[in-house]
Amino acid sequence: MKPNSFEFYRPKNLETALKLLHEKKDDAILLAGGQSLIPMMNMRLINSKSVIDLSALRELNGVTVKENKIRIGAMTRYFEIKKSEIVNKYCPLLVDAIDYIAHSAVRNRGTLGGTLALSHPSAELPGCLIALNAEVVVQSALLGERKINVEDFIQGMMSTKLMSDEIITSVEFFQSNNTKHWFGEVSRRQGDFCTAAVAINTEIENKKLKNIRIVLIGVSDKPTRMTELELFMLNGDGPISIERITSELTEKIEFIDDIYNSANGKKHVSSELLFEGVNNF
Ligand SMILES: Cc1cc2nc3c(=O)[nH]c(=O)nc-3n(C[C@H](O)[C@H](O)[C@H](O)COP(=O)(O)OP(=O)(O)OC[C@H]3O[C@@H](n4cnc5c(N)ncnc54)[C@H](O)[C@@H]3O)c2cc1C
Repeated sequence: MKPNSFEFYRPKNLETALKLLHEKKDDAILLAGGQSLIPMMNMRLINSKSVIDLSALRELNGVTVKENKIRIGAMTRYFEIKKSEIVNKYCPLLVDAIDYIAHSAVRNRGTLGGTLALSHPSAELPGCLIALNAEVVVQSALLGERKINVEDFIQGMMSTKLMSDEIITSVEFFQSNNTKHWFGEVSRRQGDFCTAAVAINTEIENKKLKNIRIVLIGVSDKPTRMTELELFMLNGDGPISIERITSELTEKIEFIDDIYNSANGKKHVSSELLFEGVNNF
């Protein structure tokens, strides 16, 4: 199928893009990597009258670091994040997770802002950004900039706090020089959306874990932190049993079926992944 006809805009800077989005209101949609948007337009699930392409906005590109604060522009593509020296040095969790996203064609085009705006529950990077305690930076013509912690930004099944006249401009987080991470995923075939995935990130201070964050991805309506396991690991009370993990999963997570996996199957895979992940530290 082909999309409905639309007007195409490719603004040269963020200010123009924000003005355009404000003028067009709900009639416009932003185009980043197009890996999800274009299929949805072709299937006529999205029929916006105007498409605003963000690809010329240099302000939204690249990775920088200043005083241990990492900033990744919203239009930075997965392959660029994976290649970035800064990301490899300070947040290798993202590098490990990107290997699990789809195939190289999608990784060459897909962007950090696109995956956050969509917030698919099985997407790897939004969950990793929760593990990194990141903030999403958004901007609108009317209200200017606001920063929202990513855990709060993702509201539920493909639902976020982003307003219709806002553009995600970047993601920011602090990362110490001494961290440890773990990422594990199970999917039916390489490149498929995950059955379940786990992202863990922690600082190490005087040989002790600090600010540990454990996030379960792809099993419920949004990525979720396993806060009791985090506490248990911080207290360093020895190996964590599968029973303890299952108990937090039962208490906290409303597992949902997807097209290939039952809720029960996802719970089983989650407990095994978490067991492997948390006992790796
Ligand atoms: C075959 C296939 C397999 C895939 N497998 C995986 C996978 O395993 N894991 C995974 O995580 N993803 C997967 N994806 C999805 C992929 O990661 C997409 O690239 C991503 O979800 C959207 O990013 P994008 O840059 O392509 O955004 P687009 O498709 O251009 O846009 C997606 C949505 O985000 C909005 N948007 C984009 N940028 C911004 C911004 N800066 N501010 C505000 N709104 C914005 C758009 O308006 C649109 O509504 C897969 C996609 C395909 C086609």
